[in-house]
Amino acid sequence: MSVSPTVPVTASPRTAQWVQADRDRLIHPNLPAGQKDRIVMVEGSGCHVRDSSGRSYLDAAAVLGMMQVGHGRSELAEVAAAQMNTLECFHTWELMSNDKAIELAVRLTELAPPGLERVFFTSGGAEGNEIALRMARFFHYRMGHPERTWILSRKTAYHGIGYGSGSVSGLPVYHEGFGPTLPDVHHLTPPDPYQIQMYGDEGATEFCLRELRETIERIGPGRIAAMIGEPVMSVGGAVLPPSDYWPRVAELLREHGILLIFDEVVTGYGRTGHWFAAEHFGVTPDILVTAKGITSGYVPHGAVLVSDRVTETVSGSNGFPIGFTYTGHPTACAVALANLAIIEREGLLENANKTGAYLGHRLEALRDLPVVGDVRRLGLMLGIELVADKEARTPLPTGTAPVATALREDAGIILRGNPRSLLINPPLVLDREGADELADGLYAVLRRVSSEGRIRS
Ligand code: PMP
Repeated sequence: MSVSPTVPVTASPRTAQWVQADRDRLIHPNLPAGQKDRIVMVEGSGCHVRDSSGRSYLDAAAVLGMMQVGHGRSELAEVAAAQMNTLECFHTWELMSNDKAIELAVRLTELAPPGLERVFFTSGGAEGNEIALRMARFFHYRMGHPERTWILSRKTAYHGIGYGSGSVSGLPVYHEGFGPTLPDVHHLTPPDPYQIQMYGDEGATEFCLRELRETIERIGPGRIAAMIGEPVMSVGGAVLPPSDYWPRVAELLREHGILLIFDEVVTGYGRTGHWFAAEHFGVTPDILVTAKGITSGYVPHGAVLVSDRVTETVSGSNGFPIGFTYTGHPTACAVALANLAIIEREGLLENANKTGAYLGHRLEALRDLPVVGDVRRLGLMLGIELVADKEARTPLPTGTAPVATALREDAGIILRGNPRSLLINPPLVLDREGADELADGLYAVLRRVSSEGRIRS
């Protein structure tokens, strides 16, 4: 599949200039100083993107888990242009509002699990989690319990890099060297059925529930505001919890008046084959944070869905006192409405299930390879756990980065990995042909990976 038939597949003469200017001027997240290479993306269509050297790639990461409707949708560009020509921007502080923010809020509450009736708009995932954490503490403050400040989270969780969202994220790299984190945060063990050694004889759910119960007792239920979690951990490795984990966690929290925050920044808007993963687990949180797929990333946007009870309490008689400049941005809201309409019109939830099942079936065959320890899937959210030793379930000593590089260079597949797993989140418009391209590329590279993590030629 070509990215755009109208553009010749040649290297841009400006590539070398861009690469040098990038090295000189751009600060990239997570780029080692010794890495001089750059891949300058210039174009995209459907599930493919093209760089300035003319090379096409299959975008198996949906950019960063947000490209639901695929690249290059002129319909969304036209909606953005029309809105910019009408009312490009206005705010929603105090009594100000705008038609697109109102229409999107109504649409989101139609799609959300029953019980989430209100919407607070943001411009991204970390912002949404900042709002959720603040709302949770403020809820208890307004209820007359200012001592309820503790937030429970999980190790290896990723919730963004604001000071609050970064503090509840569960990897040391987000904390080390950045000074004191948010106080009163505790990280629990995540439920990861493949890591059986973490749970002794108990199994993941029993272990995690016992730990949660003991933690609540130790801190004191009257001092805990909320627990935050991704229904399916994304950066943590597409970690699918056992089906009874979230219902039992939700019940225990409810017994103690602790709010539940779902971070659906990746799982929202069809990724798991449902509008929200909350539906899959049969759990309605008090606060549900979304971003990314709400606009398929065409413009930055996010929405926090909140129950009536929490909204009314945090609003009180004076109103909820905080917001962002871009809360309810009309152009972002217009693009979100059009994006959600595409997801619905084109049946992308069904496609996430159907093509997801086909891709999952193809990837199951990779289990025969010595370095493939586990293949996980919900909808079009997949993870492949790479191991040095299948019996001991030990990760590759190199992590997955060299494999991701080989996939890009040798098979033209872009995806990201964490130290243990390859994360596969293709656009929700992926078809069988794209799934075959992805599965064939993965097989061609993974069969060359040694247990030391080296890629044989
Ligand atoms: N939560 C989750 C689950 C995420 O995966 C991410 C980003 N990958 C975030 C929050 C942060 O979102 P953003 O980068 O838009 O702030």
